[in-house]
Amino acid sequence: MSDLNKLTLSEARDGLRKGDYTSVELTEACLTAIEGAGALNAFVHNTPEIAFEQAKAADARIAAGDAPAMCGLPIGIKDLFATKGVPTQAASAILEGFKPEYESTITTKLFDAGSVMLGKLNMDEFAMGSSNETSTYGNAVSPWRRGNEDTALTPGGSSGGSAAAVSADLCLAATGTDTGGSIRQPAAFTGIVGIKPTYGRCSRWGVVAFASSLDQAGPMTKSVRDAAIMLETMCGHDMKDSTSADLPVPNFEALLTGDIKGKKIGIPKEYRLDNMPEEIAKLWDEGAEKLKAAGAEIVEISLPHTKYALPTYYVIAPAEASSNLARYDGVRYGHRATLAEGEGINEMYEKTRAEGFGHEVQRRVMVGTYVLSAGFYDAYYNKARKVRTLIKKDFEDVFAAGVDAILTPATPSPAFGLGEVSEADPIQMYLNDVFTVTVNLAGLPGISVPAGLSSTGLPMGLQLIGKPWEEGDLLNIAHSLEAASGFVSKPEKWW
Ligand code: GLN
Repeated sequence: MSDLNKLTLSEARDGLRKGDYTSVELTEACLTAIEGAGALNAFVHNTPEIAFEQAKAADARIAAGDAPAMCGLPIGIKDLFATKGVPTQAASAILEGFKPEYESTITTKLFDAGSVMLGKLNMDEFAMGSSNETSTYGNAVSPWRRGNEDTALTPGGSSGGSAAAVSADLCLAATGTDTGGSIRQPAAFTGIVGIKPTYGRCSRWGVVAFASSLDQAGPMTKSVRDAAIMLETMCGHDMKDSTSADLPVPNFEALLTGDIKGKKIGIPKEYRLDNMPEEIAKLWDEGAEKLKAAGAEIVEISLPHTKYALPTYYVIAPAEASSNLARYDGVRYGHRATLAEGEGINEMYEKTRAEGFGHEVQRRVMVGTYVLSAGFYDAYYNKARKVRTLIKKDFEDVFAAGVDAILTPATPSPAFGLGEVSEADPIQMYLNDVFTVTVNLAGLPGISVPAGLSSTGLPMGLQLIGKPWEEGDLLNIAHSLEAASGFVSKPEKWW
């Protein structure tokens, strides 16, 4: 059977069980697709030997009737996850040559469940960015094109390699991470599904830290059903992460009933931006109509502190990053600068960090150090923490009033051209996160679902925000929106 790489996780799982093909065949199909897709720069370290070994083991498990849902399914892993013996660079030059001695909890869970690792995926350096352009490997490229133009478009960021790989069918699914939108924005830009679970659902152990109070991992998949299947394998309590929640993990797939009758969906009025493109506003309105037609009740809600979310995020995230990134000092990991005669430890730190970190990372470290400095700590960092509490309370109030989920656009525009925003001032890039950062600040689950095409033929996504720990309910509402939207478009192959 050809085109096995085009299958969804659920299709491939069912086919494997019926004996229609083997995991080795699925793996071969994906590796061939990866080989032919160098122009997308999505995979940055391929691991075919590991993949075949895992695929053979998975085939044996399936034959023995001992196969969890993810068994035998080939996936890609974002370069932010520590993978034992396999380069893990967080797309940074400072981690050049770093091969962890350990496996992250999430990849351990995926591999224990029989998943097959095809390789590591491109991303923004240390997950800082919205376009994949801060990567030391060079940017990943979206498989999508704007109309008949051949302008190279961004797959979004920071999980841009994951998004490009899944939407171009180089793998069946991929891991992503989301600190301010890095799963949901690239998913929206490339017509796939991405869910950031509740903070504490997925272990952060072995995931290179960006901003620890915001970082969460999640799946990036071709359907909501696939997101449910993969999320279940990824989450669960982990003693090695003190912020990991000790809660049972539901069978998310079993909760996809498609029945959303009586669910109350909130439409936050503050998300209707003045300069919102007409087609995004229309997509949002139509999404609400579709949920209504499926039996949900649509209510207008207010999240009054939304306008402070971006500035709050861009104080808290850099503050935590400046602290987390202090460990890259040329002593413990990766790159170390060559010193001139007479230079000592201070020059070694300075030169190593100047050479190893890219500009955006340096900017974040400087902003973070500034807002945490004694003279400015109260004015910026502490103020931001207080505003964060208010943003969280906005959501708590709305949920307490009976709202089950909130519908918003996922991004303020469809994908832009590479260079189009990165060459403007950094604030333009930060504005990409306007609909997603609130969710990280409040620790809530959020999912992006492809919902339509722009006038230029690019995917556009809608975001659903759920109650804490209610990923099952959120996935079910997303499943209903997905069915009503009937999004089936794929990028036309040019690579
Ligand atoms: N684009 C945001 C940033 O640059 C979010 C990144 C992320 O979620 N990792 O910080």
